[in-house]
Amino acid sequence: MGEKIICAGCGVEIQTEKPGETGYAPASALQRDVIICQRCFRLKHYNEVQDVSLTDDDFLRMLNQLSSREALIVKVVDLFDFDGSWLSGMPRFIGNNQVLLVGNKVDLLPKSVKRPKVINWMKRQAKEYGLKPVDVTLMSAASGEAVLETAQAIDKYRKGKDVYVVGCTNVGKSTFINQLLKEFGAGDGPMITTSNIPGTTLDMIDVPLDDDSTLYDTPGIINHHQMAHLVTKKDLKIISPRKEVKPKIYQLQQAQTLFFGGLARFDFIEGDPQSFVVYMSNELTIHRTKLEKADNLYQNHVGGLLTPPNAEELDEFPPFKEKEWKMPKEKVDLVFSGLGWVTVNGEGGTIRTYAPEGVTVTMRESIF
Ligand code: GDP
Repeated sequence: MGEKIICAGCGVEIQTEKPGETGYAPASALQRDVIICQRCFRLKHYNEVQDVSLTDDDFLRMLNQLSSREALIVKVVDLFDFDGSWLSGMPRFIGNNQVLLVGNKVDLLPKSVKRPKVINWMKRQAKEYGLKPVDVTLMSAASGEAVLETAQAIDKYRKGKDVYVVGCTNVGKSTFINQLLKEFGAGDGPMITTSNIPGTTLDMIDVPLDDDSTLYDTPGIINHHQMAHLVTKKDLKIISPRKEVKPKIYQLQQAQTLFFGGLARFDFIEGDPQSFVVYMSNELTIHRTKLEKADNLYQNHVGGLLTPPNAEELDEFPPFKEKEWKMPKEKVDLVFSGLGWVTVNGEGGTIRTYAPEGVTVTMRESIF
């Protein structure tokens, strides 16, 4: 490639190969007099925030700067993938700044679940991660539910200071900022601009809050432990819930197995007969079988009956890694990052989980 082309809007190097990544512009954009990346183009023409992904190094450099600014940090997590979308290491980066923790995608949780219960659970989880948020709110950026309450909480806790919104990619930050712009930024309200993050090639979205302060939408970091990286876009639509997740209850005897499509497996090795509640996308098919038949079923039917993945993707699909769990006294969730979780409430039972290499399975205090 010849000389570097720089985006006139934000200064990133333009590339035409990888849509969705930093600096992307369609090849046709290079014919224009003033060349800007697609993100700046959209920002300029539609006042619309678009995602960029960034490298871990850039991300750490960006986080490092937060400690030296006086601001309110708004940390957004995806309630359906709480652990997967949790940015760790935050306590080190925030300095003396306060953090407002926002659980997004509340619309995906069953309506029967009491919101204050979820908020208390989030507070306990945050504590386990070593973070003490000044407050916790829930919202659905997509439906608009409680976006106003979150905006009010931001205004209350920022005490006139700047605001930085941080979170992994896909937690809904752009959707949230776009909602804020719709509510407060229409007509002759604030115009969004971008500014560079010093020491990186990245840009942040700036939304003026008042004459003296600004809300910054920082680029998100990709969460590497998720199922999302292993499946095609089409399959991602199947495994990412888009509406309220209907819990599926399975009454299992010991030596029974559940397959979540062909993406993960759950063996109830031994214990008293009991119910297991699965919280995963309504579109994902779950198969139940006897443990003794499970290996064969998988070998013969992954990519067919057990799908996703589909037959063409099998070559690239990583092998399963297994893990054994002894069930504690309290009710717990076994979480398959990016796929959902299974709630278990039977002390002393033994469970074996299988997930593709690279996708973490964790145990946590049950959310409900
Ligand atoms: P960002 O990478 O953090 O900026 O996330 P986006 O705003 O691009 O959202 C990622 C995906 O989650 C998109 O498919 C959104 O439609 C979806 N999404 C965002 N907010 C919500 C929400 O409140 N509920 C649901 N169900 N989906 C959401």
